[in-house]
Amino acid sequence: MPDYARARDRMVQEHLAARGIRDPRVLDAMRAVPRERFVEPGMDELAYDDSPLPIGEGQTISQPYIVALMAQAADIEPDDHVLEVGAGSGYAAAVLGRLATQVDTVERHPALAAQAASRLHDLGQDNVHVHVGDGSRGWPVAAPFDAILVAAGAPEPPPALREQLAIGGRLVVPVDDGHGAQRLRRILRVDEMRYEDDDLGGVIFVPLVGAQGWTEDGHRVAAPHPGAGRKARNGTNGADEIAQVAAAAEHLPGPDAAGFADAFERFADCRVVLLGECSHGTSEFYRARAAITRMLVERHGFDIVAAEADWPDAAAINRHVRHRSVDGRGAAFQRFPTWMWRNTDVTGLVAWMRRHNEGRAADVQVGFYGLDLYSLGASIAAVLEYLDRVDPEAAAVARRRYACLTPWQNAPASYGRAALGAGYATCEKAVVRQCRELLERRLEYAAVADGERYLDATQNARLVASAERYYRAMYYGSAESWNLRDMHMFDTLRHLLEAKGPHSRAIVWAHNSHIGDARHTEMGSARGELNIGQLCREAHGERVALVGFGTHEGTVAAASEWDGDMEIKQVRPSLAGSVERLCHDAGAERCLLDLRRGQHEGLRATLAPARLERFIGVIYLPETELQSHYAQASLSGQFDAYVWFDRTRAVTPLGPEHVTGVHAATGVEETWPSGL
Ligand code: SAH
Repeated sequence: MPDYARARDRMVQEHLAARGIRDPRVLDAMRAVPRERFVEPGMDELAYDDSPLPIGEGQTISQPYIVALMAQAADIEPDDHVLEVGAGSGYAAAVLGRLATQVDTVERHPALAAQAASRLHDLGQDNVHVHVGDGSRGWPVAAPFDAILVAAGAPEPPPALREQLAIGGRLVVPVDDGHGAQRLRRILRVDEMRYEDDDLGGVIFVPLVGAQGWTEDGHRVAAPHPGAGRKARNGTNGADEIAQVAAAAEHLPGPDAAGFADAFERFADCRVVLLGECSHGTSEFYRARAAITRMLVERHGFDIVAAEADWPDAAAINRHVRHRSVDGRGAAFQRFPTWMWRNTDVTGLVAWMRRHNEGRAADVQVGFYGLDLYSLGASIAAVLEYLDRVDPEAAAVARRRYACLTPWQNAPASYGRAALGAGYATCEKAVVRQCRELLERRLEYAAVADGERYLDATQNARLVASAERYYRAMYYGSAESWNLRDMHMFDTLRHLLEAKGPHSRAIVWAHNSHIGDARHTEMGSARGELNIGQLCREAHGERVALVGFGTHEGTVAAASEWDGDMEIKQVRPSLAGSVERLCHDAGAERCLLDLRRGQHEGLRATLAPARLERFIGVIYLPETELQSHYAQASLSGQFDAYVWFDRTRAVTPLGPEHVTGVHAATGVEETWPSGL
């Protein structure tokens, strides 16, 4: 009987270590798994050659070097939960089972799966679970995974696998290079939206056959047809439904026409009016919301405009529109996606707010605030700056507390992963204590500096505490991080309303996905996500108006990936059966649908069942529109009103021609629009 242990040692030395496999845990695992047990009878002599071998069903056991390379690239930690696609002989799964706590492996050939399961069982590797199925769709019931390794070549990285990665998770997958050869790619999920993609070199694998792979005869599987995989409301919209929408539609003039906002007077009694958008880069939505905002402020005394924007950037705008000195931390809204706030439509609103506030007492001015929590670094700086001014001793303590987060300020998404590591103390206690202390000293500090500055500092301290939790939750890729973000938005709004007193009233600008009551969308029903619209309804009942916005086609400013450049993209005509197509077929160029209880009950009933609805964020991928941008939602459940612009065009980002001069001392441009 050959000395397999020696053969394995030699294999590790000659084929792995000598070729650049350095990870000691990977080398140990390769040394420990008896490869001879995973090959066909009669092949065991060859088990430690560095070559693939047949395993039946026309498949092969992977070459040891490739197994080690993939395991090393997947950067597996002992606590990780790993998915392998293509169990084959079960050999690679056995190696992975020695590196991670739990391994799920999926194999499409039942006979191979059964054989792999029994081998793994015989070796006592009970932490490896073999499943029969199409692994190109991943293994959703066990997701998310810290690492996914695919042992078969795909036409492109399967979207299901990308989605089943935890934040910080790694997908290692051989992908067709367009010329029939394969490249091994390592895809790291940086956060909800962003992925980093590395090329690890040329490889040869059998094909991945499945819904998100190749067909049996080697063709690329066609993109799913509209509605596939979703519970689409049996296809198209009926003529009676279209007629009902047409009958209820109230015509609107263009968003720049004098009377545009008149139709929205019906919401003037609300405490909070939330104005949505179905993209972050459509001019009509900005102009319509600006007109409604002007009307509510001018005629009805609304005094808070709160936007899906970073608090510190919005604070600079707030000081500008209220004729206060602007702090010198550079021009606002420099972070991706800049066009969302640095555009000519926002500029117009900001200029108007400044004119409106001129000569008014501070307590009757309208202010501009940010609801979002993506400004960890800037918010820490703002708290410290404030304390330096009012209480230098407290500032020194705060500096020590925030130092815990300092290494992560520029890459907060990595904080979540680090915080999970054994023995790593999270910064939670320190940042929460800092926030509490600031709140407790309200009276003391209010005597030293103006109330707005105190509000600003406390809000930044709250934001740091929320962001710390957010980035930790994000690592799990669950609904929790979304919920923390929207709860933070809601809390910020609540603090603003409280700070401004019982008569204060707010207008919120945020995406439809934040504003439309989440209980009536896939987000809420399938993923357990809530949003600020839902929380406002729960808190204020009928004194809240949730106003959604939609469009059929046109252009939009959006990027193709996170941190990518802004592009002007064509918005595709809306899909058959979608709520947008229903509005389009109803024929109005611009209209308002009043969806409040007691208005058009027939229309409400027609729009209640879930239909496809389009959501374009800062990223728009027309090629994969159905999967990337449509979700099932009930229009009349989500919104109290829906504003329709059949054709829309992209916002105009601020360019150099809009910049009029930079304030030498502060770095903030002196006049709007340039200060944005
Ligand atoms: N990791 C295996 C390598 C097996 S080869 C080992 O160490 O032995 C790739 C395997 O992927 C084959 O067994 C093939 O049947 C399987 N496969 C191909 N497409 C698949 C799919 N969509 N889902 C699951 N398994 C698949």
